[in-house]
Amino acid sequence: MPEVQLDLSVPCSQLVEVRISLAPRQGPFLLSLPAWTPGSYLIRDYVRHLERLQVCQGSRPLLLERLAAAQWRVLGARAEDGSSEVPAQGELITIGYAIQATELTVRTCHLNSAHGFLALAAVILQVEGERWSPYRLTLRLPAGWQPFVPLPTSPAGGWLARDYDQLIDSPVEAGPHPCHDFTVAGVMHRWVTWGDDLPAQDERWLADVAAVCLACCRLIGEPAPAAASYLFILHLTDQGYGGLEHHDSTVLLYGRQALARPEGRRKLLQLVAHEYLHQWNVRRLRPAQLTPIDYDRASIVPTLWFAEGITSYVDQFLPLAAGLGGEQELLEDLGSDLSRYLLTPGRRLQSLLQSSEEAWVKLYRQDAHSGDNQISYYLKGAVLALVLDLHLRRHGSWLGAVLQQLWQSLGRQGRGYSQQDLIQAFAGPAPDLSTLLPLWLESTDDPPIALYLADLGLRLVAEPAETWFSGLQLEIAAGGQLRLRQVERHGPAQQAGLEVGDELLAIDRQRLTTVEQLTAHTRLGAPEPPVLQLLIARRQRVQELNLLLAPPRPQRWSLQIDPEAGADCALRRQRWARLQP
Ligand SMILES: [Zn+2]
Repeated sequence: MPEVQLDLSVPCSQLVEVRISLAPRQGPFLLSLPAWTPGSYLIRDYVRHLERLQVCQGSRPLLLERLAAAQWRVLGARAEDGSSEVPAQGELITIGYAIQATELTVRTCHLNSAHGFLALAAVILQVEGERWSPYRLTLRLPAGWQPFVPLPTSPAGGWLARDYDQLIDSPVEAGPHPCHDFTVAGVMHRWVTWGDDLPAQDERWLADVAAVCLACCRLIGEPAPAAASYLFILHLTDQGYGGLEHHDSTVLLYGRQALARPEGRRKLLQLVAHEYLHQWNVRRLRPAQLTPIDYDRASIVPTLWFAEGITSYVDQFLPLAAGLGGEQELLEDLGSDLSRYLLTPGRRLQSLLQSSEEAWVKLYRQDAHSGDNQISYYLKGAVLALVLDLHLRRHGSWLGAVLQQLWQSLGRQGRGYSQQDLIQAFAGPAPDLSTLLPLWLESTDDPPIALYLADLGLRLVAEPAETWFSGLQLEIAAGGQLRLRQVERHGPAQQAGLEVGDELLAIDRQRLTTVEQLTAHTRLGAPEPPVLQLLIARRQRVQELNLLLAPPRPQRWSLQIDPEAGADCALRRQRWARLQP
């Protein structure tokens, strides 16, 4: 059994010393470091943080041939004549190297004097022929630190993983943090926070998390979680947001500033629900393209709209289904999703299917132009989930029933699903979805949102803008200058010749120093959109441009109850809001 030792005992070095011991092998073999971690569809080239790789057999160093950026062939020891000898029998092979742990996200590694966090896909080399071998993991930690690892412990010390996949699906947190235990349907759960001890500050926290976990089990039609035990790791930092799902654990990143807002606690509970539901949807009920996972390259997954969109839709209902929060908050949250969707021009260019397939190069690589050329499969996936849920309800079914059926027929069996499997499952209770769903996935037109919302007595209401439309957004740059953060494609600012990064100096010969001053110049008043004379600086050259503003556009949309709607709508809405059939 390969043994992996991770040494975090000098945390201020921000280096993790790794040692992998293997039984002797016959002939050369390959080593490689994953290029990405499941759940986060971006080639991260983790190998950029790897240094001092050395492979020895006993005390003899073995020769390494680098085949690719993250792949080596281990040859034998150097022979007298300069050639390599195949690894000798008998003595253990040890692979040693260090990983720089300086990147604080849920899918990278971070080590300092306060804590250690390791995403093991970024840390542990794959050894050819050992993917399906059991592994033993041990940690060396500074005095006073506790390890938090979602793996069963080994009688020999440390932890046991069934294979390489389970090993690198296990995030490691360590530090002097307190840990809180609770149970969900008799299954042991642990909660650990780095940053502040959230359960100590919020005495209802663990009970509410447990209620949300139970609501997730009910949604999938199970009496208990799929994991034999479950670990929540929360990194509570000043700002930031993120989550990464694992089979038996999750890592969450959340901002204290966000938590302090009125909706902050509810949004964190939704993140908890989202990642916990991934225990089934995307981890155990998994796209065929990720069964098994190829860690070395990007696998195109056309069904990410299902894995993330459906999960993003239901995560907003799960706290309410757990008895926490009310219908009004749900309408606010869904309304803000629908508003973001309707205000994203990129939805006219990229279909939901393309968004899923292009995750690796678009969603995870956002820039100032992303709003123009893409639509998130989380966001449009959630909008489609709403439409699907309401369409299924017209046919006497609902989204939960389809999820449960897919879990029972495919997930439980460990069978990966294809797009066709999903379409069939939706078309089971509603046969017209066999043509409608592919259309909605491939089209850049909006699905008929308003039509379905009317079933619930709901309508989308536009909030009118107070200014003419400029098609630009400003920010205060690090040097204090006013710069263009976004310029909408084909919008007035772009047509005037403005670009992202331009510094805005003056409008109509008046010096501009705050973002709000732009509003003063664009405020509605005159009967026709005015032309503004702009003075800008681009790459140290000053120039003048004329910006012809356009008629106002809604600045946001909200989801409201239609006072004209009948009592049957209100009854349907109640069941829908509580995730009831
Ligand atoms: Zn997710």
